[in-house]
Amino acid sequence: MSILVVAAHPDDEVLGCGASVAKWTEAGNEVHILILAEGATSRDAVRNPGNRIDELSALAKAAHSSGDILGVTSVRLLNFPDNRLDSVDLLDVIIAVEEQIKRINPETVCTHHSGDLNIDHRITHQAVVTACRPQPGQVVRRLLSFEVPSSTEWQPPDSGPVFQPNWFEDVSITLDRKLQALEIYTKEMRPWPHSRSFQAVDHLARWRGSSVGCEAAEAFILLREVC
Ligand SMILES: [Zn+2]
Repeated sequence: MSILVVAAHPDDEVLGCGASVAKWTEAGNEVHILILAEGATSRDAVRNPGNRIDELSALAKAAHSSGDILGVTSVRLLNFPDNRLDSVDLLDVIIAVEEQIKRINPETVCTHHSGDLNIDHRITHQAVVTACRPQPGQVVRRLLSFEVPSSTEWQPPDSGPVFQPNWFEDVSITLDRKLQALEIYTKEMRPWPHSRSFQAVDHLARWRGSSVGCEAAEAFILLREVC
C-alpha cells in the first residue's frame, strides 16, 4: 500500500504521525512525505529566503534524515512561504498536492487537522481535502487528519473545530523511532512543559494509547474511507 503524508512544515510529519509512519513502513508499505512550506522564513518581518539559506538547508537535511529513521520512500520539500500560506492562491497549493497524488497514487493520505491554530496547517488541510475529493477515478481511499502539539491543542474551542479522534494507531513498538526522528529536529523542539517538548510528545502518545487500551498510540480523525 502507498501512503502520502502532507505536512505544512518540516517536523509536522514526525510530530503528527511519525510513529505510525515507522509502523507502516516496517509492515512493507511505501510512505511518501510532502512538505509544503519552507520553514524558518517567518522569523523575519519581511520574507527573504536568502537570509535563511543555512537554516533552510538544515531543515531540508533534517527532513530527509528523519525520513530515513522512519523508513520512508521519499521526502519532497516545496517552497511555499512559511506561516504565510494565506498569501498564496489556495488553488496553487491544491495543484501541488494533486501533482504528488498523481505521481504516487496513494491509497491513504494523512494531513493536518482543520481546526489547528497555525494558518499553514489549516490551509494544508483545505488543500488536501480538495485534492482528495471523491470524484470518479479518485485513487485515495482513506483520508486521515492528525494532531500537532503546539497547534492543535492551542486553538480555543470557539475558534475552530476541536480535535476529537476516532481512529488510533497502536505505536507501542515504534514510539521510540518517532522520538529518535524528533532528535533530528531538536532545534524545533522546546523544553518541558512546552507541548512541543520530548516529554510532552511521549506523554501525549501514552495518553492516546491509554485511551484505547494500549501502551502508546497516535490519534487521527478519519475524514473519509471508501471501502
Ligand atoms: Zn507546522
